[in-house]
Amino acid sequence: MTTTPDLGDTESVTRAADAFELRRTDAPAPDAERAAALAHPRFGTVFTDHMARVRWTSTDGWHDRRVEKYGPLLLDPATAVLHYGQEIFEGLKAYRHPDGSVWTFRPEANAARFAASARRLALPELPQEDFLGAIAALVRTDAAWIPTGEETSLYLRPFMYASEKFLGVRPTLEAEFLVIASPVGPYFAGGVAPVSIWVAEDYHRAGPGGTGNAKCGGNYAASLLPQQEAYAKGCDQVCFLDAATSTTLEELGGMNVFVVHADGRVSTPALTGSILEGVTRSSIIRLLTDAGHEVAERRILLSELTTGLRDGSIVEVFACGTAAVVTPIGRLAGEGFDLTVGDGGPGAVTTRVRAELTDIQYGRAVDRHGWLQRLM
Ligand SMILES: *Cc1c(COP(=O)(O)O)cnc(C)c1O
Repeated sequence: MTTTPDLGDTESVTRAADAFELRRTDAPAPDAERAAALAHPRFGTVFTDHMARVRWTSTDGWHDRRVEKYGPLLLDPATAVLHYGQEIFEGLKAYRHPDGSVWTFRPEANAARFAASARRLALPELPQEDFLGAIAALVRTDAAWIPTGEETSLYLRPFMYASEKFLGVRPTLEAEFLVIASPVGPYFAGGVAPVSIWVAEDYHRAGPGGTGNAKCGGNYAASLLPQQEAYAKGCDQVCFLDAATSTTLEELGGMNVFVVHADGRVSTPALTGSILEGVTRSSIIRLLTDAGHEVAERRILLSELTTGLRDGSIVEVFACGTAAVVTPIGRLAGEGFDLTVGDGGPGAVTTRVRAELTDIQYGRAVDRHGWLQRLM
């Protein structure tokens, strides 16, 4: 994982958060409305009272750090992002621990990836202090919105877009960075039940030299039609193959994939440049290695996967990402095949690594790798 040194103690987080001026809303959600939203959080549907915001111009750099009332953005119709899609985002969560403290998971990795995405999309790089400061300032302001139910959290969505009013094609001279927050429960409405996957052969989400390893909205836009077609074929999600040969596994539209072999070895597609380097992916590689599994980052042929599922040498397949954590894949279908993975239920390795990861995130297990950062 490409990480920069973490910010360390709560004092430096406080210093970073204090750079944000608090302009509190005069119309927060009524307590009853907030309580109702927290009782049944559905992914990405309800947002907290505030948002964090920083402005960038080529002349003044990053400035005007503030936490302000959550609300609509006023965009000129000629704003660059609406025409050329110069936009990037991140996704991470704030977890409330049993003692009431609030933590986030490897935020320095998200900050580093956000800077790398910015470089690829010719957007300005946000300093790591501002990335973490914005998150901490928003979470501290809207702490009442962090749900406490099992497997619930406050999902944080940092993003940046080209805000210059200009239709010419060149990198923007103005940008906005924002963080919004949404109380969430399980990502898939059905909970941790296995999902079915359609392997797309005619569409790709990213190609060599493209933006596949940047977290940008454009990659998602390219994945929506194949996702819709997968749905029409009776599958929940789509898995993409490499654009050059359509033979090797890459990832889902928004999650990385792992394959578990009958002998305990685990494989995941190597980072080729067209795959997004997930924080969950790298954490799982570490946890599985700690548990004694041999984990290979390599080319995985689709033909190897279908053969392995037929002859029983591949016993589990799962997807992973911050939003859904670890999702078992119970069925894999594509042109000319429709295969059940294992017995179709969640496999033992999948279930164990999911529990290990969430136990660390929710403060139920020792954070032996120093992955958690306290926010308050
Ligand atoms: C965000 C994302 C992931 C998962 O990354 P995490 O850091 O684990 O949340 C995987 N693939 C794509 C395409 C993504 O955008």
